[in-house]
Amino acid sequence: AREHRGSTPEPARLVVLAGPTAVGKGTVSTYIRDNYPDVHLSVSATTRTARPGEVDGVHYFFVSDDEFDQLIESGQMLETATVHNSFRYGTPRPPIDAALAEGKSVLLEIDLQGARSVRRAMPEAVLVFLLPPTWEELVRRLIGRGTEDSVEQARRLETAKIELAAQDEFDYKVINSEVSRAAQEVVDLLS
Ligand code: 5GP
Repeated sequence: AREHRGSTPEPARLVVLAGPTAVGKGTVSTYIRDNYPDVHLSVSATTRTARPGEVDGVHYFFVSDDEFDQLIESGQMLETATVHNSFRYGTPRPPIDAALAEGKSVLLEIDLQGARSVRRAMPEAVLVFLLPPTWEELVRRLIGRGTEDSVEQARRLETAKIELAAQDEFDYKVINSEVSRAAQEVVDLLS
């Protein structure tokens, strides 16, 4: 929490990191998780299965469709979205409310639909758009990850093109050429 002697404490911020698919949002948020332990990083719920190395409760809460429905019905989701036409993702609200109430800023790494939903629900949120250095680099990163088949890759490239066009809706833009630098720029926006 930021306290200034003789003045009221600055309110904690909700910072949303979004950007096109494969721009490296996950890499930047993982870097922040590993190197800035004081940053409160929201853990999303998702109906997709874990990739190798992903830990339940750390990278995501991996839940069934029924469990996801229950989270929505019990009013625990700040926003939800179906990403890439298949799996559902959502931001659990209670941990965010708790952190903000304690004066701790919170970082969300979500997709563009999620960023727009958060802006509607919490207009004071700070929206950050992560940009690739170039379009070619974005394509290279998407193909290079090797986790999706070619049909899914083509779908994601199409999504990325549409998503890039949304950058002007955002409060800040950060170019992800070097992960540590992009992470520092995002962390700076939390205080
Ligand atoms: P991945 O499956 O590759 O981890 O993530 C796919 C996409 O889902 C990424 O663009 C990621 O930012 C987005 N995502 C992750 N968690 C959430 C969330 O809670 N809400 C929304 N709207 N998108 C999310």
